[in-house]
Amino acid sequence: MSDSDYKLETLAVRAGIERSQFNEHSEALYLTSSFVFKNAAEAAARFSGQIPGNIYARFTNPTVTAFQERLAVLEGAESCVATASGMSAILSTVMGLLSAGDHVIASSSLFGASVQLFSGIMTRFGIETTFVSQTDVGAWRAAVKPNTKLMFAETPSNPLTELCDIAALSQIARQAGALLAVDNCFCTPILQRPLDLGADIVIHSATKYLDGQGRVLGGAVLGRKEVTDPVYAFLRTAGPTMSAFNAWIFLKGMETLKLRMEAYSISALELALWLEQQPQVERVYYPGLPSHPQYALAKQQQKTGGGIVAFDVKGGKDAAWKVVDSTRMISITANLGDTKTTITHPATTTHGRITQEQRAAAGIGDGLLRVAVGLEAVSDIQGDLARGLKS
Ligand SMILES: *Cc1c(COP(=O)(O)O)cnc(C)c1O
Repeated sequence: MSDSDYKLETLAVRAGIERSQFNEHSEALYLTSSFVFKNAAEAAARFSGQIPGNIYARFTNPTVTAFQERLAVLEGAESCVATASGMSAILSTVMGLLSAGDHVIASSSLFGASVQLFSGIMTRFGIETTFVSQTDVGAWRAAVKPNTKLMFAETPSNPLTELCDIAALSQIARQAGALLAVDNCFCTPILQRPLDLGADIVIHSATKYLDGQGRVLGGAVLGRKEVTDPVYAFLRTAGPTMSAFNAWIFLKGMETLKLRMEAYSISALELALWLEQQPQVERVYYPGLPSHPQYALAKQQQKTGGGIVAFDVKGGKDAAWKVVDSTRMISITANLGDTKTTITHPATTTHGRITQEQRAAAGIGDGLLRVAVGLEAVSDIQGDLARGLKS
């Protein structure tokens, strides 16, 4: 099925299906680590690449291939490589495309493990990263060096929902002769398609919204084949490949992706507007709110605001913890993208290991809370939060 023929919701349900001899209706789950050959000549031809086909599940597996094809058409990508987790998607991108001596520009608001990968591990391999403000296009431009090979953004950011201007960054990348990668975990292709806006690479943690029910880990790297081929070459050698079982879970999750992203966006906006009215709430961060500083960019770049809402409560950590501890339904956990609403206090969990000064610079105060809205009734989510917001 080609991208241009069908709408996204149709592709989410139908793309990537290749039926076996049994003509199963639902996608088959191929739990096999290797594949057999008719004879020695066929084995030789497969290994040499003379004839295409599956050899070993670290290289390819039909269920994983179906996942790759479905996500590729949703993102409008020529090629998709599936990985064992979101972080292994980022690691494989770096290992496939960069070498010692290369320079990276990354947003300082990236997912915590991504910051650690670039600021810690990659420096041991001679890859240097300059971190810049998510929203400051001029800072990205000023950070370009002759050896800049990769620009890495994530929009909207976690937990403050700050946006990167993907089209503007892609121009800077083009002029610099660098590749622009966008972690599209929060929006998914339903709300935002970075490749259409000029990005070269899209990264996913499939663990979040693509699964949608908090069950398994997975990731993906998408883009032109010339960009994903070296990523795949690293992956099939080094081994952080997606399991067939997880691919099958993601195929099922993607079928309801559009419905879920739309429902999350409607509920999150309603929740954000309600939070703005609460006397105990100092500020609400949500790209779908007219009060968001980048509301105009959000309207242009994303279909809707998505499912993540953050807010500052008056009274710092004690007041924030009171909201968390007063919930009876909402799950106290750092995961997101689930049907179940989750709440996190970033300053003492996801961002607990950086210093107070780094947190202040990132705008993460002690009173900040992040809610990843689920599919429950908004009134129930509000009721659960209202208990702890009473003075
Ligand atoms: C969770 C997450 C990751 C890492 O994904 P894993 O599947 O946990 O490895 C990367 N980027 C973003 C934005 C995330 O939320």
